[in-house]
Amino acid sequence: MDSYPTIILKPGEADRILGGHPWVYDSSIIRAVTPTVDGELVQVKDHRQRTLGVGFYNSASRIRVRILSPDKITVDQAFFEQRIRTALDVRRRALPGAASFRVVNAESDLLSGLIIDKYEDVLVLQTSSLGMDRRKDLIVAALRAVFSPRAILERNDIASRKFEGLPEVSGPLFGEVTEPVNIDLNGLKFSAVVGGGHKTGIYLDQQVNYAAVATRAKGARVLDCFSFLGGFALHAARAGAISVHALDQSADAVAAATANAQVNGLSDRCTFEVANVFDWFKANTFTPPHERLVPKYDLIVLDPPSFTRNRASVPDALRGYKEIHVRALKLLKPGGTLATFCCSHHVDGRLFEDVILAAAFDQRRLLRRVATYTQSPDHPILPSIAETEYLKGYAYEVVR
Ligand code: SAH
Repeated sequence: MDSYPTIILKPGEADRILGGHPWVYDSSIIRAVTPTVDGELVQVKDHRQRTLGVGFYNSASRIRVRILSPDKITVDQAFFEQRIRTALDVRRRALPGAASFRVVNAESDLLSGLIIDKYEDVLVLQTSSLGMDRRKDLIVAALRAVFSPRAILERNDIASRKFEGLPEVSGPLFGEVTEPVNIDLNGLKFSAVVGGGHKTGIYLDQQVNYAAVATRAKGARVLDCFSFLGGFALHAARAGAISVHALDQSADAVAAATANAQVNGLSDRCTFEVANVFDWFKANTFTPPHERLVPKYDLIVLDPPSFTRNRASVPDALRGYKEIHVRALKLLKPGGTLATFCCSHHVDGRLFEDVILAAAFDQRRLLRRVATYTQSPDHPILPSIAETEYLKGYAYEVVR
């Protein structure tokens, strides 16, 4: 391993790496023993010169090293092929029969800085570290060997690339996709634009939860908030909901969801509306003095975007979460079900439930928790790497 430049860590900084976390922060490093090259491999040692692992170095990033292996490795096409096949095995076991799923989820698959999504026969790649970005050709070659895809697209128009000194780019890396891709999720068809620098294909992390929440939709009047392409809405409609109303502020998303309902023969019971959920809730929970609001819904789904990207904005985010829960509880019939999700890593399951209970307290509602949800298994959680866990959800029945 002596051929790699060596990075020495401060005392006390080795345990996290030994425990499997791949990030070495700039603040953990004493010095580089030999000159380093950004985007290339280095070996990381503790202050007693014991080797901890090998990974990509980038002096421009606060995450100086992203460890790839505790042992010596050669990062070539075979390396990527082997890691991708291992990741694929996890998905084949967890989601047998699925044709669209996340193939590689960065740290979850020991490939920090790399995300690969599979939308049927189209692959979409995201490289958020310099080391990975420099090796796009190897990754594309490995993906062609494993999947023989129709096309491989790059969707690197993500803001986090700037932390690695990388520009925002997107476009084809192999083949071409001009039309929307037809994606099958649990037997329902979704049309999604995956290329062309447009909005990302579809959120794959709720695949399992779409079906799980839909088991509560039979005979229900359903409200799907933040519906995007209609994932929860269409699954609920197919499962026998009487009616489904879906809200999203993006006109493009609502148009796509409306088309998806049609393709699946579910238009008769689904309606889609372009609306800001906060405004819609205010308008629909307004009651003149001396009148009571009549709750309309048996099942309400809340799946908002992350209201916080960092720890500092958590209090603001909690106010947002509380508000939508208060309003949703006003619109939920006694005995109705609230299925609610939080995709912010900075708000954990306990904190999220605290907010929900604060909303229930305000409304003098008593809730029975009847289900706990997490991200679909193609976004594997490695508890030693806390950042790999971000999506949590609960279903509650209104006891009274
Ligand atoms: N439930 C969706 C994912 C939701 S992602 C699914 O399973 O695919 C968040 C969605 O919320 C996006 O489509 C975005 O357009 C929408 N959105 C964000 N803020 C909103 C707001 N204030 N009101 C309505 N929609 C909003």
